[in-house]
Amino acid sequence: MTNRSTYVSAEISALPKILDELNATFESGKTLDIEWRKEQLRSLWRMLDENETAISDAIFADIGKPRVQIQVLEIGAEKNDILHFIAKMDEWLATETVETPPPFENWSPVIVRRPRGVCLVIGTWNYPITLTIGPMIGLIACGNVGILKPSEHAPQTAALLAELFLKYLDPDCFRIINGGVDVAQALLKYPYGHILYTGSTNVGKLVMKAAAEHLTPVTLELGGANSVIVTEKANVELAAKRIAWGKFAIAGQTCFAPNVAIVHESVYDAFIVALEKAHRDFYGEKVEIAKVGKIVNAIHWKRVMSLLSSTQGSTVFGGTGTEAELFIEPTVIKDVSSDDPLVQTEIFGPILPVLKYSTDIEAKQLLKKLSQDALALYVFTEDLEEARQVLTWCNAGTACINDVMGQIAPVSMPFGGVRGSGLGAYRGRASIDTFSHKQPMVTVPTVPEFEAILAWRYPQMESGET
Ligand code: NAD
Repeated sequence: MTNRSTYVSAEISALPKILDELNATFESGKTLDIEWRKEQLRSLWRMLDENETAISDAIFADIGKPRVQIQVLEIGAEKNDILHFIAKMDEWLATETVETPPPFENWSPVIVRRPRGVCLVIGTWNYPITLTIGPMIGLIACGNVGILKPSEHAPQTAALLAELFLKYLDPDCFRIINGGVDVAQALLKYPYGHILYTGSTNVGKLVMKAAAEHLTPVTLELGGANSVIVTEKANVELAAKRIAWGKFAIAGQTCFAPNVAIVHESVYDAFIVALEKAHRDFYGEKVEIAKVGKIVNAIHWKRVMSLLSSTQGSTVFGGTGTEAELFIEPTVIKDVSSDDPLVQTEIFGPILPVLKYSTDIEAKQLLKKLSQDALALYVFTEDLEEARQVLTWCNAGTACINDVMGQIAPVSMPFGGVRGSGLGAYRGRASIDTFSHKQPMVTVPTVPEFEAILAWRYPQMESGET
């Protein structure tokens, strides 16, 4: 275990000076040089690379996330994103020519990417690197300066980030401000070029209200009750294995993990048996906390356990937890109705309720009732035409066929919700749209031929007037 950094909450009284300094840096033009931005990104990459163990220890201390997931889904994923940005940002930020009919083609109509200014990123705890560094990559690439406020519920990671930012990034341009709700609310009182918020839907609304005061544009990455449909044409064993992985990874605390499984009646029993097999294969006779992760805090532990005790369904496996360790066993509940309290909300814990459907109409109604406007929709079937049909049954921010959570694996895929699950998107090229302003610009010729064409717009004396 490495030495722990100390979590220090920012003084709210210090914010005006910090904001003034950041605005002054932005106005100085320091961030305009694209090579300078790439150097900051290279340094961010080195920060992740040289501090892998410290980062892994901090996240493990915060939420007990299994080490391999920290390595692949946080540190590895962000290092890849940074390299991809460095390779592609010249192209993504290049001035675009706009095709236009004569005579305006001679006005050189173009769209120029401008930075937005001082931007604010508010992160959450479940992926405390991916959801903080991820947005910062686009923010830096677009030439902004910015503030990152990590979640107070992952304090070790937040404290470490504060220490590392000072060491690796230009402190005139990029600051970590640590603190809880009071600090977040204080930060939200200021105008920004852009705010990117990740967290719950209810707080997302408050962020949008605060931003409206200054007409600051927002990207909101919120929660969602995501469904996975398993049709009669699915490879049931594979479906169960992949769904169990996504649901139980980091104790079910992934925003786009499946909330419920909706399974065709002809494969329902086989699916339950396959889930039991996956559970045995993953965890053996006794589930170790290190393989699942813990619930972030006692409040959430009690919330999830109370949801579990409210269900009318029957437990296939799991169903217990220990508060002292903030642990909840991976759990499957079968014979669940769509009115069950367990499926009315985003569970955000390692509990998979499995519902049954018999017709496509019924499945569509279940989706609309439980998952309209969710962050993700999943379908398992070997018939890709059927899969495409299912994906039209309800609105969802992202989608994936024959896996869960695979939609963000390809570097550069945009990520974002729809309506209740979010507003806007980021990652890869989508981050460029989020963190830059597309400025239309023309250069009007000054030669006499063009001045003659423009003659109509100048007030002129009618002939005969004196
Ligand atoms: P959280 O409590 O860490 O809150 C997130 C951030 O919001 C923190 O930095 C916190 O300080 C700040 N915050 C909290 N209350 C605030 C307020 N009243 N005003 C201003 N800021 C405030 O995280 P959480 O809400 O427990 O996160 C879990 C939720 O986030 C789940 O619903 C999950 O689905 C969602 N989530 C979404 C994504 C995504 O990419 N769409 C990713 C992860 C989590």
